[in-house]
Amino acid sequence: MHMHWSDHSYVWHYNSEGHPSWLTDDQAFAVVHQAAKDWKACGIELRYAGITDKKPGVFDGKNVVGWRTDGTRYSAWTSWRMRRDGRAVEADITLYSNIFDIYRRKGIDAYLEMRKSAIHEFGHALGLSHSSKPSDAMSVRVRTRPEWRLPSDNDIGECRKIYSRPPL
Ligand SMILES: [Zn+2]
Repeated sequence: MHMHWSDHSYVWHYNSEGHPSWLTDDQAFAVVHQAAKDWKACGIELRYAGITDKKPGVFDGKNVVGWRTDGTRYSAWTSWRMRRDGRAVEADITLYSNIFDIYRRKGIDAYLEMRKSAIHEFGHALGLSHSSKPSDAMSVRVRTRPEWRLPSDNDIGECRKIYSRPPL
């Protein structure tokens, strides 16, 4: 059972605290906002509902996308809860700015990695699982080709499958 938003809309808030210091507030927000827009072809509404002080990764009734600086293994994480019938309750996306700082120090295109991670996590927030196809945004493999940054036709197809039922 895939988690899904029964009214076909994912309404998210943003907390800018802890974003990478090498991006302005606007630049950091733009990465997140664009990643949400990149799923538009799925047919679900991803609506930005404003800034919040609430932390990402805490179940508090609000879908929060934001940053933390204490990442260890992952560059990003989606925390979600659903009812037994698959209806989503909450999905928060945490981006670990300290991990992207490390990428940057290693000479990796951290901005691109951030874009890809944000898109991948929005996919989870919409209910998508991992894909075994390396060209998919939902792949867990490290996607080295910049042109693979966007959701693939396969990703969008998987997303559409979840939302093929009419909204409640
Ligand atoms: Zn994942």
